[in-house]
Amino acid sequence: MNNKIRLRFPPSPTGAFHIGSARTALFNYLVAKKNKGEFVLRIEDTDKERSKLEYEKDIMRSIKWLGLEWDEGPKEDGKEKGKYGPYRQSQRSDIYKKYLQKLLDEDKAYRCYCTKEELDKEREEQLKRGEAPKYSGKCSNIKEKRDADFVIRFRCPKHEKIVFNDMIRGEVSFNSNDIGDFVIGKSDYSALYNFAVVIDDYKMGITHVVRGEDHISNTPRQILLQKALEINTPYYAHLPLILGSDRNKLSKRHAATSLYEYKEKGYLPEALINFLAFLGWNPGGEREIYSLKEIVENFDIKRCKKGGAIFNIEKLNSINSYYIKEKDINELTMLCIPYLISSNLINSDFKEKQFIPAYGGKQPIASFKLFESEKEISFKKLSEIISLHKERMKYLSEISDFTDYFFKEIDYDVNLLYWKEMTKEEVAESIDKSLEILSNIKEWNKENIEQQFISSCDKDKGRLLWPLRAALSGKKASAGPFDIMLIFGPEETKKRLKTAKNKLLK
Ligand code: GLU
Repeated sequence: MNNKIRLRFPPSPTGAFHIGSARTALFNYLVAKKNKGEFVLRIEDTDKERSKLEYEKDIMRSIKWLGLEWDEGPKEDGKEKGKYGPYRQSQRSDIYKKYLQKLLDEDKAYRCYCTKEELDKEREEQLKRGEAPKYSGKCSNIKEKRDADFVIRFRCPKHEKIVFNDMIRGEVSFNSNDIGDFVIGKSDYSALYNFAVVIDDYKMGITHVVRGEDHISNTPRQILLQKALEINTPYYAHLPLILGSDRNKLSKRHAATSLYEYKEKGYLPEALINFLAFLGWNPGGEREIYSLKEIVENFDIKRCKKGGAIFNIEKLNSINSYYIKEKDINELTMLCIPYLISSNLINSDFKEKQFIPAYGGKQPIASFKLFESEKEISFKKLSEIISLHKERMKYLSEISDFTDYFFKEIDYDVNLLYWKEMTKEEVAESIDKSLEILSNIKEWNKENIEQQFISSCDKDKGRLLWPLRAALSGKKASAGPFDIMLIFGPEETKKRLKTAKNKLLK
């Protein structure tokens, strides 16, 4: 094994990839990359019932999407990269079996034949006496192998202080008397979590373990096993819990918890990485925007906090909107297209990336049929529409609501056309005036449109511009009227104004 430091991210593929797991993956990646070390992905799929291949794939796609490519581990095609595999626990049973047998042979573990009923009763009595429940050690002296179902228990040493130096928390200590003889394997010699992890970390040369605070009580158990097996103990760091705004552990009550939901809503990977890095770490200073590369450069695990990290969705929104604004407009348009398709605003006969030169596409301009009418819209125009909303977008899925009126006339309440105390007649006059101004615009460009309208405004510009903008967009808030008109062209502009007038006079 080389001298590089090695970290692992070992998720269990038993559910949708959690935002907390994404943070754990990130912090392991950061420690590895900061120290020019290696980042290993290991799939902990020993729970046969709950582990699913689709979740495993979701994990891999999610980490990749976040930009946290692993140096070793399983691949989506079912193969693996790296020489310390297999990297799926389900394929490592022979290895666990060998070490379980070793502990049994050395009398550091024993077979326990207690039934579930006996254990439940024992536990109940201990709780009644106000004691913390732990195994009584009833089977610890049975030497012979019985013909009955059993589990393998680790013979936990008595009166031993287990101390480790957590990279975030400093010295942490436990008393072995509080632990009791815990189960490490089943009668088929399959390994339980604490045992499998210790063997894997050892066999895979893991030097540093970074994981959530909820695992802290597993660490003394793992250290005891390492001592019994006479193998090295890695360095440990336990990240603070992610909390909701009420300081309770983050749950669905507070915010979406699966990474998939954030991706679907239109959060960018670079924004999530930036946000997740700040959930427990801070480089110091006021600056909040850091790329993954910059986070790696600035990262120091000693600057991680012990206390809970509050998940603040407004913060995520503000970071995400920053990255949206920073995006190249062609790229942003590409990212928005799937949302427009799923809202039925443009139809879906669109082949990804084929249209933009930056992506190697041959046609600089593509046409997208509008869903409702059979009109077409060019990629350029689409990008102009998106560009108008770049500043307002907190996440990409907002684009459909912001821009629907560009693709179809939307129904709106006639009251929307009224500016302040204007009467019906005054609104109608205002619309007529807009129509008249339109007929004077010879060349359709933003300067001409703006100049013609502004020079026709009263002191209170809203009297002309509010009914105009409302008629064009059918919305309380939208892009400015001149920008909309520029994209609509004179015909569509006239059409919307006429619709508004009909609505008013109905
Ligand atoms: N499979 C465990 C989990 O998903 C890994 C815990 C560890 O890092 O040791 O929580």
